[in-house]
Amino acid sequence: MEVCSLKEKMIEKERELELLNEAVDKIKNPKLPYILRVQQSILRAVDDYMYKNKITRMMPLMMAPITDTLNHSVEESALFYQGQEFDVMKSMIFHKQATLMNKGLEKIYIVSPNIRLESSERGDKRHLFEFTQVDFEFKEGTMEMVFEFMESLVRYVFEFIKKECTEEFKALGLTTDHLELKDTFKKYRTEELEEKYGEDFERIASEKATEPFWIINHKREFYDAEDLDNKGTYKNYDLIWPKGYVEGLSGGEREYKYDRIITRMREINQDEERFKDYIELAKRGELVKTAGAGFGVERMTRFICQLNQIDDATVFTRKPGKEKYIF
Ligand code: ASP
Ligand code: MG
Repeated sequence: MEVCSLKEKMIEKERELELLNEAVDKIKNPKLPYILRVQQSILRAVDDYMYKNKITRMMPLMMAPITDTLNHSVEESALFYQGQEFDVMKSMIFHKQATLMNKGLEKIYIVSPNIRLESSERGDKRHLFEFTQVDFEFKEGTMEMVFEFMESLVRYVFEFIKKECTEEFKALGLTTDHLELKDTFKKYRTEELEEKYGEDFERIASEKATEPFWIINHKREFYDAEDLDNKGTYKNYDLIWPKGYVEGLSGGEREYKYDRIITRMREINQDEERFKDYIELAKRGELVKTAGAGFGVERMTRFICQLNQIDDATVFTRKPGKEKYIF
């Protein structure tokens, strides 16, 4: 009995040291300095592009009474401050909508850290349970406006990287072929891709593509606008990175009218109590027509650096489902 538990303890200790060494190896990855430099260049190009286009930058919030309801379930992450329930920020979607109530603000963005406590099944190549997205929203925005804006942002970033990061690309053993963009990004609808490729259409279409493309019409959160001329379809979109790197951005035109928000909430049995102040603003007609999106910084870094998995873009692992997190 005694011997057995001693042996178990030794094995446990050994495993702990292994995990510690793994974390140290990750920090000491010789490619990491170059990856981080490319990521810094991405953020610099994004800020520059936003500044030139007069998109107003806001600071991020990290907790709030309401946050993105998401289209999938994640682990509970409630926090309490002075007796009031908050959640960690899953995305600033409602804060973007609320900010645009200010008459002097037309277009805004946030470099926004988000926490989504994903289940271990999402311990894949594309999810982190803590990440940063560039989240933007335009008053009077439309899908077409976002397509044009984002496409030109991507071109701006790629050109900047090609110019600035030659040393980093050399060190990473990369060419810039995947950053050469020829055509306007193609647009597909979920229904046409699903018919062609089946349920796993996003991955298959991404693997076949050589340039980024859009997928329009997803049934998901209540805040993305339904197309009222075409009920049951939605004015939302994802930007997909090619060569199997899959989703890089999600966004949509938004529901902002009281009756529409209530209708959409009731369709999915959304807890209305939690949103009662937001609903009150909609009722008063305070919410305005907007469209926007958010794109993951680490996902863009992964595509630009052609990394095997998104976790390779981080210093400290945030891959869901690990046995232990050291830092
Ligand atoms: N931020 C995204 C949006 O604006 C949503 C998301 O984070 O998935 O639509
Ligand atoms: Mg998404």
